[in-house]
This record gives sequence, structure tokens and C-alpha cells, in this order.
Amino acid sequence: MQAVGVIGAGQMGAGIAQVSAAAGYRVLLSDVDQARAEAGKAGIAKRLARDVEKCKIDAEARDRVLERIEPIGDVAGMAACGLVIEAATEREEIKRAIFAKVGAVLGHQAVLASNTSSIPITRLAQASPDAARFIGVHFFNPVPVMGLIEVIRGLATSDATVATVETYAAALGKRVVHANDAPGFIVNRVLMPMLNEACFALGEGVASIRDIDAAVQLGLNHPMGPLTLADFIGLDTCLEITRVLFEGTGDPKFRPAPLLVKYVEAGWYGRKTGRGFYDYSGAEPVPTR
Ligand code: NAD
Repeated sequence: MQAVGVIGAGQMGAGIAQVSAAAGYRVLLSDVDQARAEAGKAGIAKRLARDVEKCKIDAEARDRVLERIEPIGDVAGMAACGLVIEAATEREEIKRAIFAKVGAVLGHQAVLASNTSSIPITRLAQASPDAARFIGVHFFNPVPVMGLIEVIRGLATSDATVATVETYAAALGKRVVHANDAPGFIVNRVLMPMLNEACFALGEGVASIRDIDAAVQLGLNHPMGPLTLADFIGLDTCLEITRVLFEGTGDPKFRPAPLLVKYVEAGWYGRKTGRGFYDYSGAEPVPTR
């Protein structure tokens, strides 16, 4: 089994490193420097320690996962990887610079994949050494819990490249769905209009924050209401993806709700800033309207 390289040791990259190691792959994990890569691994160790406490895994399994993850300071170390997954910050220029750097050392068979949520794969492939061996693999957060990977083919992606990521996903025990390289792929294409519509409904005074959430949660049997979910994802992220849908399709049905724009302009991004549609400063979330 060839090693897997993971670039970006944040929320998603650390999760991808963890599930890859749990599936038996040796993992090289990088970030902007060695210290950030080490911090990513420390976060994984912390989460696994909690899993041991809760008896979800035993200490030996935890040690085996951690032993397989090697934080590195430079992507030059990924020369021997059969698959490299980029999970760095969602900025195109950052990703392009990473592909140029890692592309210079990758083997002739190696596949380069991006976990981007919104940047077109065909366009990103232009910054990679070989567009035929470039592909989108879109994981979901939290990676160890969520059972899905969206696989996105660019225009030039080869069948062999698709087969490589299918084998990898099967080893991880994740279900693959195939999406064409269209804005939002499948999940965000379906989800974001619903979250955006909940913002329209709130802005137009259809119902209160609590009632919109309760209606969808109990009436549609969703695990949480749309405004709670938007706060969890981050309102800035929701707005960014909605804009990608709107600009990428030119379809007015995707236009961002003015209230969503207003919350983002106020810096109320949801849980991560302590305030979004709910205020998270107390013991229980309290609606902000
Ligand atoms: P994050 O901010 O938690 O992590 C990004 C990491 O990339 C940081 O550790 C940062 O230091 C690192 N980084 C920045 N520049 C780098 C560089 N030049 N080289 C190496 N590392 C670099 O973000 P995240 O939520 O983990 O998102 C990462 C990617 O995954 C994005 O493309 C995002 O769109 C995508 N994604 C996110 C989610 C989600 O729910 N958060 C879901 C699916 C996909």
C-alpha cells in the first residue's frame, strides 16, 4: 500500500489523515510549516484519546493510527506517495501554489486530489502537473463521522485516476457518489438553497428563528434546523458557496438572501464567532432576532 500525502492539517486535513491512517495507509501530513503539521497531529491524538475514553477504540488501535501519521515540514517529502490530497485553505492562489510545489516532486503514476468545496476542478487541474491525474475528492465534516465522499471528475480526469480514488474510498469504508464538475457539486447544490431560503423566510418575517428551525427539524425529520446548521457551517462559508452557485450558474434562484449578507457583514459568522442566528455566549443558544 503506497503512502498518502495530506496537505493542510486543519479541520479537514487532520480528519482525512486520521481516517487514512485508520484504514492502514502510511500518511505524510504537511501544512505551512512543521509546527502546524505537528499541531494537526496533536489534534488527532486528542480526539483519539477521547474515543479511547468512550471505549469507541482501544489504546492499541489509537497507537497504530498515530504511528502511521508523520508530520512533515515540506511537501518534497511526498515524492513516494501514490495519492496526495490537498485540504488547505479555500483560496485558489494558495491551492495553485501548492500544486506547483508538490507537482514538481510527484511520481508519474501519482494522483493529486483536492478537497475544495467550491473551486471548479477543471480549472484547478490547470495548475497541476497532469490534468488526467487530477480529481476532486470532497469529504464531509467531521471526516471520521461522515460516511460520504463526493468524487468530482475534471474534463481531463482519466478513468485510472477515478479508479485510484474509488479504491482509496473503499479502504476508508466511505460511500462514493460521482458528481460532474458543476458549481456546488451535489450536496452543496441541494443544501445551500435550503439554508438560503430559510434566511429569506426569516428576513421576510415568515416565522421566528426558533420556529423555522423547529419546523424543518420536526416536520422534515432533519437532525437540526437550517439556521442552526448554517451557524454550524459558518455563515461566511454559506454565503461564499451560495455566491459560487449564483455566479457559476447565472441563475437568480441562487441569489444570496439579503439577511445572510447582512449577518456576514456584521461579522456574525455563527458558532465560530460566538454569534450568528443564535448567540452562543450562554449555556444555551439564544436567537438573535
Ligand atoms: P482549516 O482552516 O481548518 O484548515 C486549512 C489549513 O490549511 C490550515 O491549517 C492552514 O494553515 C493550511 N494552509 C494554508 N495555506 C497552506 C499552504 N500553502 N500549504 C499547506 N497548508 C496550508 O480549513 P478546513 O475547514 O479544513 O478546509 C480545508 C479545505 O477543505 C477547503 O478547501 C474547504 O473548502 C474544504 N472543505 C471544508 C469543509 C468544512 O466543513 N470545513 C467540508 C468539505 C471541504
